Amino acid sequence: MFPDPDMPGIDLVLPDLSYLRDNAERVEGIVLTHGHEDHTGGLAFLLRDLTAPVYGSALTLGLARHRVQEAGLEHLATFVEVVDGERRDVGPFSVEFIPVTHSVPHGFATAFHTPQGIIVHSGDFKIDLTPVDGRLTDLAHIGALADGPGIRMLLSDSTNAEEPGFTPSETSVGATLRRLFEASSGQRMVVTCFASHIHRVQQVVDAALATGRKVATLGRSMAKNVELARRLGILAIPDEALVDVEEVDRMTPGEVCVISTGSQGEPLSALALMAAGESKWLHLRPDDVVVISAHPVPGNEWAVGKVIDGLHRRGASVIHTGVEPVHVSGHARQGELQMLLSVARPEWFVPVHGEYRHLVNHARLASQMGVADEKILLCEDGDSLILDDAGIHRGDSVPAGFLYVDGTVGDVGRGVLRDRRVLAEEGVVVVVATVDPHAREVVGHPEIITRGWVHAPEAEALLEEASTVVRKSLESAMADGAGDHETLRRHARKALGKFVGERTRRRPMIVPIVVVV
Ligand SMILES: [Zn+2]
Ligand SMILES: [Zn+2]
Repeated sequence: MFPDPDMPGIDLVLPDLSYLRDNAERVEGIVLTHGHEDHTGGLAFLLRDLTAPVYGSALTLGLARHRVQEAGLEHLATFVEVVDGERRDVGPFSVEFIPVTHSVPHGFATAFHTPQGIIVHSGDFKIDLTPVDGRLTDLAHIGALADGPGIRMLLSDSTNAEEPGFTPSETSVGATLRRLFEASSGQRMVVTCFASHIHRVQQVVDAALATGRKVATLGRSMAKNVELARRLGILAIPDEALVDVEEVDRMTPGEVCVISTGSQGEPLSALALMAAGESKWLHLRPDDVVVISAHPVPGNEWAVGKVIDGLHRRGASVIHTGVEPVHVSGHARQGELQMLLSVARPEWFVPVHGEYRHLVNHARLASQMGVADEKILLCEDGDSLILDDAGIHRGDSVPAGFLYVDGTVGDVGRGVLRDRRVLAEEGVVVVVATVDPHAREVVGHPEIITRGWVHAPEAEALLEEASTVVRKSLESAMADGAGDHETLRRHARKALGKFVGERTRRRPMIVPIVVVV
């Protein structure tokens, strides 16, 4: 998942993979349902610990390969491409790859044929009846599985389980884009969306070509994904319609459209640099139109808001989801979730993918659709379910915390994160004291160093007082016979912490350093 704002300095949040690592020899394969970052980004870390073939569509594997290559681990990965409707043996299972629509092309639901019946996992999906590429969610096949052998268990995407109705079709965004492009003739267009949203990119390209524009990509991942999708024949852009972004500033504004990354307000992304007037490639002008064809994922609203402010400062017109329907979700709302449940008619149901409240709402829907309440299982990370002849029951929990990654590799850990929060919110006070336990005295004056507690040059008297408090506490501890390092440190921390709390009502981190001579 993506780091929260209360995780200072964290680049990535990974699941605790220790259960998989401990059971590495039992892992027969890794199935990627689709190419989104939060579904494939952990692969590079998993492959360090276990080797198993990785299954997915050509596009999914292409997107995943970018990440694995960046980690320099391509030699550890065996990618196995599968196509729509294919059935493959993976260890003791037979797995079917069932097409679904989503906000990245070529996603799959999967059906696992096991000795305990068929388990269907929806993957991330919506039921788009008019998708850009005409590739529909294959409800008919899921229905056939339900009619034939029956579906023992369904696990289904809960992201939009609180939203009533149906998510609009992706093609509705195309119509809006076309209208906006037509209304902006003579003006330069900049459109930003997720780089993996190839169908959105296609619709931007279509609107651009239809209004006499050429297109340029901006941002590394956009260039990479456009190249990959064109190579796979998923994205249609004629060669002569593509121009290099370096040429854009010299082109007639009404004849160009730039497709850019940065829809989430990421600080160093192409769009954020444009908004700050620091882009090497594109200098926004008052006549430009910027379309943000995405919705901020929770936690990014503030960053996106700042970018929108910056774009307005450049004088550009900004069009976002608050103004025009320039984005639709890739996830099924209640109507679609009910449709899947009615087609699949599972014996057991497990809502997955979403916050707890989404799971609860999805469980409620299943209950309304006639799934027996005792056969709806609300699970959290680390829970295990066991299927046997008696039914499905809960097993032991397995480790399932998070790993916090800062920099390249390696878990930062909860303790470090807690320290960072205290440092960020309250600062730190360090005291360095030298003591001579034999003479039972403090040598010299304890030195107080602080960052983020009080502004030291203006608080000399306070620091002086703090120093005296520490000296007295150490002297009285030694008078009582304390002589070891650890005990003296404890006394210094307690005395200083109490002083700081009483005098300033703050709780910075207290770091005592006691040097014994
Ligand atoms: Zn997802
Ligand atoms: Zn997804």
